[in-house]
Amino acid sequence: KAKELGRNTFAFFQEDMQSLSDARLKMEKSLYRAVKNEEFEVYYQPQNNEKGEIIGAEALLRWDDKDMGRVSPMDFIGIAEDIGLIHDIGRIVLKQATSQVATWLQQGVWQEDWRISINVSPLQFAHESLIDDIMLALTKSSLPAKLMDIEITENTLMTDLDSALSKMEKIRSLGISLSIDDFGTGYSSLKYLKDLPIDRLKIDQSFVRDLIADKDDYAIVLAVIAMANALSLKVLAEGVETNEHFKQLKLMGCYTYQGYYFGRPMCAVDFESFCENSSAAL
Ligand code: C2E
Ligand code: MG
Ligand code: MG
Ligand code: MG
Repeated sequence: KAKELGRNTFAFFQEDMQSLSDARLKMEKSLYRAVKNEEFEVYYQPQNNEKGEIIGAEALLRWDDKDMGRVSPMDFIGIAEDIGLIHDIGRIVLKQATSQVATWLQQGVWQEDWRISINVSPLQFAHESLIDDIMLALTKSSLPAKLMDIEITENTLMTDLDSALSKMEKIRSLGISLSIDDFGTGYSSLKYLKDLPIDRLKIDQSFVRDLIADKDDYAIVLAVIAMANALSLKVLAEGVETNEHFKQLKLMGCYTYQGYYFGRPMCAVDFESFCENSSAAL
């Protein structure tokens, strides 16, 4: 009896695995096609200062598959890394974002002191072509390097610190700034903050969400802000969804923000009118 049950369980397990790998294979196939046809679109989410003025935007990738519909980057970036497509995808993001921002700059939609933040995953950062990819995108678009910010996570620093450090220095020497994304959620050492050429910490949204109600989150956010200020690092709070978040963060000494309260990630056309309306409102 037990043996039978065991066999059944195994059969179910096998079936589950089968459908899992079917879904996975379908996703991989779709990703290859999406890269080939460049079915990706960069969205832009504003970053704001304490007056509510725009100081830049983060480039966030969107993919609408013809069968699966919109697939979240959380669901496809990891797979793209596994099958080696992340570098092509990264180049698409760099190309789209730099040419779009360069156009906006010419049109006066984008201001010279705004920065465009580009996400680079640990695997992308470790790849030998990263610096060339960035420089090519900047050259082709004629976008000044000082308008670009690269977002890496703490985990990027874990694998090969020496090569990460020299790459960071190279990026900084081009005039590009560096942010640590999702700060507080990865494996990091305070020593990195002291030694590495970092411009900004982005406090992860998981600490911001319950900032008002949860005294532990409050304490963490306050400590990160104090530490950033003491180390002369800029600090931005992610996931700012309400006026309460905004007011509280300002009281705590954090003066730059990103979140639904200020604006959602928008396609280029929407971001453009968003900028026009917000400059008209000032
Ligand atoms: P991230 O870099 O931390 O980006 C912030 C995420 O938080 C975005 O999710 C954004 O839409 C979301 N968000 C912004 N404001 C709020 C808010 O007020 N409340 C809440 N609940 N969420 C907010 P998204 O666009 O789904 O991206 C998820 C992650 O996927 C990103 O996290 C980033 O790690 C990755 N990703 C996105 N685009 C790229 C890309 O071009 N390259 C790479 N390597 N990764 C990317
Ligand atoms: Mg980011
Ligand atoms: Mg983040
Ligand atoms: Mg995140």
